[in-house]
Amino acid sequence: MTETLDIKITKTAHSRLNETDFNNLPFGKVFSDHMLVADYADGEWKNFEILPYGPIQMSPAISALHYGQAFFEGIKAYKHDDGTVSIFRPDKNAIRFNKSAERLCMPTLPEEVFIQSIAALVDIDRDWVPAKADHAMYIRPFMFATDPYLGVTPSATYKFIVLVSPVGPYFSKPLRVKIETHYTRAAEGGMGYAKAAGNYGASMLPGRKATEEGFDQLIWTDAKEHKYVEEMGAANAMFVLDGTLITAETKDTILDGVTRDTVIALAKDWDIPVEERKVSVEELVEGAKSGKLTDAFGAGTAATIAPVGSFCVDGTEYFLSDPATREFSQKVFTTLNAIKYGTAPDPHGWNYI
Ligand code: PMP
Repeated sequence: MTETLDIKITKTAHSRLNETDFNNLPFGKVFSDHMLVADYADGEWKNFEILPYGPIQMSPAISALHYGQAFFEGIKAYKHDDGTVSIFRPDKNAIRFNKSAERLCMPTLPEEVFIQSIAALVDIDRDWVPAKADHAMYIRPFMFATDPYLGVTPSATYKFIVLVSPVGPYFSKPLRVKIETHYTRAAEGGMGYAKAAGNYGASMLPGRKATEEGFDQLIWTDAKEHKYVEEMGAANAMFVLDGTLITAETKDTILDGVTRDTVIALAKDWDIPVEERKVSVEELVEGAKSGKLTDAFGAGTAATIAPVGSFCVDGTEYFLSDPATREFSQKVFTTLNAIKYGTAPDPHGWNYI
């Protein structure tokens, strides 16, 4: 443990808690009373402050807006029946946060400082963590470049901000998925493994086209041949094929998902074989035809498990079993929720209390 982080705290004079409808929480639209802000300048992080949530003033020339030196994280906190609030595996996000920072030529943040910052904010706004089944507090840490300078060069100043947002259940109906064979999310040598803002900007047109074609989501394939499955929208793509859990190995085109890592750990606990390797579209098609593809889902913080109902390859759609009957993903979903909400033991120590 490093020493306790010095955070200046200014509480709001008027809480919006009682005006908030916790029965209607559209994802990412409702924010708590406070936010955490810190500055990077002269080679160090300073001015850690928790203050009322609200607009911030910026020069229109800040380099984040022009050249995309910006990235984020996504984490969730859960309320247990006894009122305990736990954050799920923030240490993993702290590590990934710094991988993104390094890739974008931005300053890192000591892992302890990252965790203490989000924990302090969640603690101040703990009444905003919904005490309801399937609800959570979404935590959004992010960093961006603030030099008011139009030169294409790494900024010398940055802001680190954390917002928290209560969220309701994620409706995961079986998804109709398009295997994307034209657009690319990430190429080797690129920044797919970083949670760079630009990766999400680049995904919007392909995503919009897929929805216009009637799909709920798309599965990205490799940039070179479009033959191997990489990720599913903003989640890792995972499959059970012939009794083995398979997913793309983490490399520079794949975001090292916390949920992905958690699902793999559970599979290993249950003695289910796991292969992290190239997953070809062809073997998925064969598996769908033979019935050996018994599970397919996206794994991510937002939905935990988003089941694939069918996938479409160059105009041919392949249908999979009813997600309610899928042994593996159902067990993962139930087990993970029980750990997160504190109704089951947490043998891996994933909950940060
Ligand atoms: N891949 C991408 C591209 C994502 O944006 C996300 C969401 N963070 C994931 C995978 C899943 O990662 P995690 O389980 O850490 O949320």
